[in-house]
Amino acid sequence: MSRTLLAFHAHPDDESSKGAGTVSRYASEGVRCVLVTATGGEAGDVLNPAMDRPEIVSNLKATREAELALAAEIQGYDEVILLGYRDSGMPDSDDNADPRAFCNQDRDDVLETLVTIVRRVKPDVMLGYDAHEFYPHPDHLRVHEMSALVFDAAGDPSRFPNVGEPWQIKKLYAPMIFTKTRITTIHEAMIERTGSSPYERWMSMMDERAGPGRDVSRINVKGFVEQSRDALRAHRTQIDPAGHWFQVPTELIEEIYPWEDFEMLESRVGWSSDEEDLFDGIE
Ligand SMILES: [Zn+2]
Repeated sequence: MSRTLLAFHAHPDDESSKGAGTVSRYASEGVRCVLVTATGGEAGDVLNPAMDRPEIVSNLKATREAELALAAEIQGYDEVILLGYRDSGMPDSDDNADPRAFCNQDRDDVLETLVTIVRRVKPDVMLGYDAHEFYPHPDHLRVHEMSALVFDAAGDPSRFPNVGEPWQIKKLYAPMIFTKTRITTIHEAMIERTGSSPYERWMSMMDERAGPGRDVSRINVKGFVEQSRDALRAHRTQIDPAGHWFQVPTELIEEIYPWEDFEMLESRVGWSSDEEDLFDGIE
């Protein structure tokens, strides 16, 4: 049975910080994995001091495109589709007012582009974003909104009849990295074993994430955590290899919490909280 996963992300690096272990695992199992990235990430800051050099800052779009290509290759993506919109930056910034910004595009135009892609790629499972209250970047909010719209529109014969045969995606999930259970579990293990934890400052912000009332599936990524971290490190301008992302040893993660969490946003084939595979229920 051939299976296809389509991951829709806002910026280069999001595909490596959200659900990358799961994509790496599925790619290794022969699932066809396709990445759609909305923007070039050109409004991002250079967050790795070693890369904060004029020649890199002045050409950030091209640099981030190359980083994305490498990160996608590391995870085993079969295809990378760049929508080519401009990074919307944060509210009230010049980037946010730019007419090329993703957040300033007509929703129907973007939807037609996404529907065209879905009808060609025919994904069984799509990764999009949840409401993103934890990090309300305009591009992330727009990915949240558009992923719900394309889930409904791609399979609807009355929508965009000229861009391919209708294709119904079966399930839509949002990768959740800062779930309370995950961060608390790793935080407590780090305190117990090393006396300190990089998640100290996150603990007060965790409350509403993945609490009761959310449908969360846990996917085992044991053996794929290091691969996902290599993908994240490929984003050299965005990720400081000495930063908080890497302070928890891979072995500890794989021992204590070898899962990635996904919120189930939509399913046409049912869902159960004990599923261990995002493709569960799909013929
Ligand atoms: Zn992002």
